[in-house]
Amino acid sequence: MSDEKLDLPHNSPVQPTRLELDDKIKFRCHRGISCWNQCCAQADVTLAPYDILRLKNHLGIDSTRFLAEYSVPFEIDAHGIPGIKLRTDDSGACLFMTEEGCSVYEDRPTACRYYPSGLLAMRALGKPEDEQHFLLIKEDHCKGHEEDNLITIGDYRKEQGVEIYDELNRDYYRIILKKKSTGPTIGAPSDMSLQLFFMASYDVDRFRRFVMSESFIKMYDITDEQYDKLEKDDIALMQFGFDLMRQVFFGEISIKEREGAWDKRADERREILEFRKQAEIEEHLRKQEAARKAAIDSGTDDAEI
Ligand code: SF4
Ligand code: SF4
Repeated sequence: MSDEKLDLPHNSPVQPTRLELDDKIKFRCHRGISCWNQCCAQADVTLAPYDILRLKNHLGIDSTRFLAEYSVPFEIDAHGIPGIKLRTDDSGACLFMTEEGCSVYEDRPTACRYYPSGLLAMRALGKPEDEQHFLLIKEDHCKGHEEDNLITIGDYRKEQGVEIYDELNRDYYRIILKKKSTGPTIGAPSDMSLQLFFMASYDVDRFRRFVMSESFIKMYDITDEQYDKLEKDDIALMQFGFDLMRQVFFGEISIKEREGAWDKRADERREILEFRKQAEIEEHLRKQEAARKAAIDSGTDDAEI
């Protein structure tokens, strides 16, 4: 029934079972269980934008440093849409794993909260809206499935505090699904659009500098109150990034553009290109003249230049 799907958050060789909110799973994870920490010792955790906000704020560092120290990039699809995973050590263990458990537990990512279930965002053929289903992964090392505890997927999501993560990441998942489904018709995404996707989705502090830059202010008509909020509020900035991506990628206008700004920018670009071209011509002429003088000085003034 679906033409596009995004399996989140796990990449597992184990075939998952598809579930709905009311379906029950038999599972419990607790300290003292024989497999304690085994899932984190072989971690394959894909990160979504809100995960990164929570983690970088937990660690008290900016997003650029978080990405450099704690993440590795990968490509989400064949069009090169960039994704981010948690970095592991050489043995495959998550860098946040300790003997006592997860050192960032209160701000652990969506994938860790969901495990051993996961979110399955899908887009049915011909339908504009995405659908959310869930999956269950059973891996041999995980003994939580042998515990005597029945719980619905809905209650498990509440217990793990995952709802706020899904709510705040939902626009990001929708953009990926839409970009994947429109990709073949409009061609591969440009480098510029992939860079914007990466910065707005994952590197929110760099995105903030971009939004506060003079060239951005010249293009978009944003009030002082909005700017004030974007400067201080990571979540507002992340959501503004989703709006900007929808505007740039799909033409869904929600951020007011300044009248004539694109024409003015095109004119400025033309002027810059003209200036560069002129500078290149002058440099070429200067080199020719220098070579001619050198040839005269060495007595080979009839040499071909
Ligand atoms: S972030 Fe925490 S829960 Fe998730 S893999 Fe790392 S140690 Fe485990
Ligand atoms: S029960 Fe599963 S999720 Fe819990 S510690 Fe063991 S392997 Fe990890």
